[in-house]
Amino acid sequence: MTETNRINITICGDGGCGKSSITLRLVRSAWTEDYDPTIEDSYSVTRTVNGKPYSLSLTDTAGQEEYRGLWSAATLHSDAFLLVYDITQRDTFLGLEYFDSMIEIERETRAEMKRCMPVCFVAGNKCDLSSRRQVGAREGLEWARNRGFGFMETSARERVNIEETFALLVQRVLQSRHEKLHQTTHLPTSTSRTKPLAPLYAKVEKEASSDSKVESESLAERIQMRIRGWWDEGVCRWVC
Ligand code: GDP
Ligand code: MG
Repeated sequence: MTETNRINITICGDGGCGKSSITLRLVRSAWTEDYDPTIEDSYSVTRTVNGKPYSLSLTDTAGQEEYRGLWSAATLHSDAFLLVYDITQRDTFLGLEYFDSMIEIERETRAEMKRCMPVCFVAGNKCDLSSRRQVGAREGLEWARNRGFGFMETSARERVNIEETFALLVQRVLQSRHEKLHQTTHLPTSTSRTKPLAPLYAKVEKEASSDSKVESESLAERIQMRIRGWWDEGVCRWVC
């Protein structure tokens, strides 16, 4: 397997949202109720996309990875990020903002190094528990779409949209690599996002409205505020 056929994917999101369950579903077709939440592990799995085999290296992050500096190690070689939240826990959805900001900083670093931008995809997991839903599918879709990220609702338990999510992620990575290879004009700026994917998602009947919220703060202000916050919390080590 050549380096070009290897795709590194980091799976992030708050604890308990189903990162390990999604990973294990893809890697081993397994379902387990009580996977150790403190385990961070890497897995490798092969999938054929457009007739070619690709080795997917998955990093299933765990616990408070951002506080342990592991986040930076995981992101360094990531071609893609899967941002997972639990549709029955609104906090996990709000928690995506944090990961988004971290990825934005990673983008800035890569822009400076003229490296390929990472692809991002959002998974609203546990869609089998729709009676306990706290985050609407459309809300998740809009959050993702506003950032140019792909979106799916998934259920690791019921095996809904797991393979599909990774297939789309891989396709976007290949597309992004292709564009980078054939780039003749300027490289993307640090604030440029991936182009929006045509979203595939579960249980969303209509397309999201286009009057999406425009961020009032500039990116630089946002990042500075974040860094200040992390600094106060003593978690700024890897950023600085
Ligand atoms: P992580 O901390 O993000 O890795 O989350 P885990 O994969 O360990 O899952 C946390 C809990 O949610 C476990 O009890 C899982 O069995 C459960 N879980 C994960 N995915 C799903 C899902 O799609 N549906 C349901 N009903 N439960 C899930
Ligand atoms: Mg886990």
